[in-house]
Amino acid sequence: MNSAGGPDQEMNESGAAANSPAPRTAAAIAAGIANGDRMLLSRAITLQESARAKDRHLAQDVLRSLSGKPGIRIGVTGAPGVGKSMFIDALGSYLTGRRHWVAVLAIDPTSTKTGGSILGDKTRMSRLAADPRAFVRPSPSRGAPGGIASSTHDTVRLCEAAGFSTILVETVGVGQSEYGVQPLVDLLLLLVQPGAGDELQGIKRGIVEVADMFVVTKADGAALELARRTQRHYRRSAALNKSELRPVELCSALTGEGIEAVWQRIQARLERLRSSGAIERRRTAAAAESVRQALERELISACLASETAARVAKDAEQAVREGRLSSLEAARSIVAAFLSGSKPQ
Ligand code: GDP
Repeated sequence: MNSAGGPDQEMNESGAAANSPAPRTAAAIAAGIANGDRMLLSRAITLQESARAKDRHLAQDVLRSLSGKPGIRIGVTGAPGVGKSMFIDALGSYLTGRRHWVAVLAIDPTSTKTGGSILGDKTRMSRLAADPRAFVRPSPSRGAPGGIASSTHDTVRLCEAAGFSTILVETVGVGQSEYGVQPLVDLLLLLVQPGAGDELQGIKRGIVEVADMFVVTKADGAALELARRTQRHYRRSAALNKSELRPVELCSALTGEGIEAVWQRIQARLERLRSSGAIERRRTAAAAESVRQALERELISACLASETAARVAKDAEQAVREGRLSSLEAARSIVAAFLSGSKPQ
């Protein structure tokens, strides 16, 4: 679709140099990304996710130096084991075969603390991981200080700026992440397995309600008939009929059967969402939410960079620990110290 939009466009060096804390580094990273250097794209994403404000500003300079356009953003969610990574591998490979540039971002908020990731293994998408037209990035939200929306929004933009025309965002459909991700994507696919009902699959009702389209996975071999029954069940299910009927497709990532039909259905659905203004509304909401989260993060950084506020924070933490202050009172006293004239550094 967008063969000219690959990660090989020229970069704008002067853009990188303006107001940049480390302009040569930003320009060098951007130049590398524009030349298709995936390690540098990964590095820019890591900078963007960093807890250090300086790193995040450098990532913004990199972003400004690149010239890719917004692409198609598709969310893929579903319970663990439903076949998300195999589906993404199959759909992504189908798309790169049609000259798309495909970036895959896997969000796993549960791994924030351990640093481990149930999604993060590239070998789960072996074809895409070796595909020169694809970029697979596990867990972009891991360690991100600003929340999923802020972090993923900027990561998506970096991938688009690097020239990727189709962004697949993978989330586990069991927690809160879909609610944060849904406005970030143009279309949210919920994958379901042949046979089991929502509850048995660990799918929350809220996710069924926000999904734009359903795909029954593993429709092959002995499971094919069951998959067809599941498809009929989802089509009939009253819970799916909001204002209009949402598509329910079947496919097998193993045989590739149905992948093309899924893509055609996605395109038709995107067209409807686009013409109804739903995509525009979602992107506006996602931008607003990402700004709110980034503001929260920047305010905290600025606040704690103030010497006075940092001193008050230290005392307040001790007071909270000893039960002399509530955390809300502590936060208020820190903000008051910050606002009373101390300058952020
Ligand atoms: P995820 O946890 O949702 O990412 O699921 P995976 O993609 O890792 O798949 C879970 C299991 O289902 C693996 O053992 C896969 O081999 C199997 N699987 C995934 N897709 C298919 C399919 O299309 N057909 C069949 N028969 N098995 C599949």
